[in-house]
Amino acid sequence: MKIYLGGKLVDESRARVSVFDHGLLYGDGVFEGIRAYNGRVFKLDEHLDRLYRSARAIALTIPMTKAALSRAVVKTCKANGVRDGYIRLVVTRGVGTLGLNPFNCKKPQVIIIAGGIQLYPKKLYETGLSIVTVGTMRNQAEAINPRIKSLNYLNNVLAKIEALNAGVMECIMLNPQGYVAEASGDNVFAVQGKTLLTPPPWCGSLEGITRAVVMHLAPELGFTVREDVMTRYDIYNADEVFLTGTAAEIISVVNVDRRVIGHGRPGAVTKKLAKHFHAFAQRTGTPIA
Ligand code: PMP
Repeated sequence: MKIYLGGKLVDESRARVSVFDHGLLYGDGVFEGIRAYNGRVFKLDEHLDRLYRSARAIALTIPMTKAALSRAVVKTCKANGVRDGYIRLVVTRGVGTLGLNPFNCKKPQVIIIAGGIQLYPKKLYETGLSIVTVGTMRNQAEAINPRIKSLNYLNNVLAKIEALNAGVMECIMLNPQGYVAEASGDNVFAVQGKTLLTPPPWCGSLEGITRAVVMHLAPELGFTVREDVMTRYDIYNADEVFLTGTAAEIISVVNVDRRVIGHGRPGAVTKKLAKHFHAFAQRTGTPIA
C-alpha cells in the first residue's frame, strides 16, 4: 500500500511519523474518514470543508490548499487502485517538543491512507443493531467541541468500551444536559411517522456528512426532517431508529436499552433511505481516474 506522507507517496513500510509528533503525544490534530464508491470520492469537498473548519477551530494551519489536498486524495486512491474503499485523511500538529505548546510544531503533517473498511458485519445490516446508552457523556462543547473532528477521540473510545462491555457494538451518548447527542462514531436519527428527527449539532454531535446526505434525500422521498432536542424517550418510542456515518453508512437500530424499537426489525423508512443513499453514492463524487 502507498501512503501519502510528507508531500509524496511512500511505501507503507516506510510511512513513519516521529514520536515527537503532537498528534501522537497529545492527540493534537484533525482527521476525516471518507468513502470512495464506484471510482469516485464521495462528498470530498464537504469532507475537506469540515477538515479545514476543524483545523481552524484548533488553530492549525493545513499546509496545502483545499484544491491541492483534493488532488492528493485522488492521487492516493489511484496509486492504490482504490475504486470502492475508505480513505483516512489525517493532519497532525507535527513534530514539536515534549511541552504542550503547539506553536513549537513548525510543520503540520498531512497523511492519507486509502484502503478499505467494514465497520459492522454484513449481517447486522439485515438484522439491525442492538445498542445501549452509556454513562460516558459526550464532551461539553466549551471543553472540546464535538463539532471538531480531532485526533483526540478518547471520549468516543471510552463510550465504545462501555458499549462493548455491555455486549453491543454501538451506543447512545448523552450530552451534559442529558439530551441525546450521537453514537460513539455515528449520528442518530429517530423516525416518527413521516418525520425524521435528529439532534442539532449544538446538542453535542458532529455535523456528519452522511447525516447531511440523509437530510438532503429525505424530502425527495416524502419525509420531513426536524433537528430538535431529543431525549431517550424519543428514541424508545420511535417507529424506527438508525445511525449514519461514512463507515457505517445507514444502519438500523432495533433495540435500545432493552426497548424493542418498532417491530424489532429494520423498518421500511430506514431501508428506503439506505437504498436511495447507495444509489446516490454510486453516481456522485470526485472521479478518481
Ligand atoms: N459522529 C462521530 C463522533 C463520528 O466520528 C462520525 C464519523 N465516523 C460521525 C458522527 C458521522 O459523520 P460522517 O457521516 O461525516 O462520517
